[in-house]
Amino acid sequence: MRVFFIGFGQAGGKVVDMFIEQDRKSGMNNFRGIAVNTARTDLMGLKNIELKDRILIGQTVVKGHGVGTDNVTGARIAADEIDSIVNAIDTRGTHDVDAFVIVAGLGGGTGSGGSPVLARHLKRIYREPVYVLGLLPAPEEGRLYTYNAARSLSTLVKEADNVFVFDNSAWKNEGESVKTAYSRLNDEIVRRFGVLFRAGEVSKAGVGEMVVDSSEIINTLRGGGITSVGYAVTEMVSERTKKKRGLFGGLKESLSKKEKTEEVLMGEDKSAKVIALVRRAMLGRLTLPCDYSTAERALVLVAGNPNEMDRKGVEKAKSWVEENIAGVEVRGGDYPVESTFVAAVVVLATIGEAPRVRELFEIARETKEDVIKSKEKRSSMFDDPEIDPLFE
Ligand code: GDP
Repeated sequence: MRVFFIGFGQAGGKVVDMFIEQDRKSGMNNFRGIAVNTARTDLMGLKNIELKDRILIGQTVVKGHGVGTDNVTGARIAADEIDSIVNAIDTRGTHDVDAFVIVAGLGGGTGSGGSPVLARHLKRIYREPVYVLGLLPAPEEGRLYTYNAARSLSTLVKEADNVFVFDNSAWKNEGESVKTAYSRLNDEIVRRFGVLFRAGEVSKAGVGEMVVDSSEIINTLRGGGITSVGYAVTEMVSERTKKKRGLFGGLKESLSKKEKTEEVLMGEDKSAKVIALVRRAMLGRLTLPCDYSTAERALVLVAGNPNEMDRKGVEKAKSWVEENIAGVEVRGGDYPVESTFVAAVVVLATIGEAPRVRELFEIARETKEDVIKSKEKRSSMFDDPEIDPLFE
């Protein structure tokens, strides 16, 4: 899939910068990306997004210093300067793009407020789907972050075609602060979403037997709402791969009868390994911990050395996923990469139940009530009819 990334705000910019780095290293050139921010220093800190693709907005309002945690101002600035953002996207080229992905930390100000505004406009202008990859704050960051995230998320599910959610708190280790965990968390984000977003494109290892093309990813996500992603990886090297990689690998292309029999027997083993990997991806830690049985659709993607791929294994894994989710639409396929590792990505689309999101909204509701109460208290303190103000 050819993706146009827009990193909105600090977290969004950093993550998109890493997607671009990964794309460059792979030599595939599937990703394009720009960064948008109200804070100049955040844009300066990026390494891989070209300077001309770093867009500073809101200069007349915040003078390049950022909006802090004020996402209402973030949204207003994005709306006021939407033309220059869209113009930057257009200049970069959109004719061959399959989807837009806006990445943002939902607890802050610029990305939290700006990404729903941008999603709305991109949807109006382009026919391609607009997805958001939203990062949820950890509770330790304070209630304002949670409140911001709840407001942003509830707007995003209306404005974007689908919202991939990554929960920072589910991914940081016990006792670790979110800040020290960022680089590890970002690695995790880019690893799993990198495999997913690259699916269907031709890699150095060739084209898959059961290619997952971008329309299948798009169809999986068409229910909207929020989506969680599972991932698992393992080293899988069969005798065949070892032989091919051997000194005379090129001469051993035609396998002997005995070797062919071994291959058939190993086929069963390969199937079992693929199924076990997919199970591990879905039952392990998801980007947003949630009840996978409430997912409307799913996509199973197995990426690895073509010799380790197994059609039967992928088919069986798909059936297993289908038995375990609410809906019946499970798509899937393989994606060849030159590696001794095999990775499985399971997209659980349009999730019906995620306790973390419920908790987020509950805390946000309480926070709003407390803010209103304290405002009322503050204003009533000066409401004394006996004391006249100097002028009205
Ligand atoms: P903005 O610049 O105003 O949009 O604000 P940020 O992008 O800094 O968003 C703040 C939220 O994003 C907080 O919940 C942070 O924990 C989170 N965040 C900031 N930087 C990173 C990062 O590099 N990785 C991850 N995963 N989260 C981040």
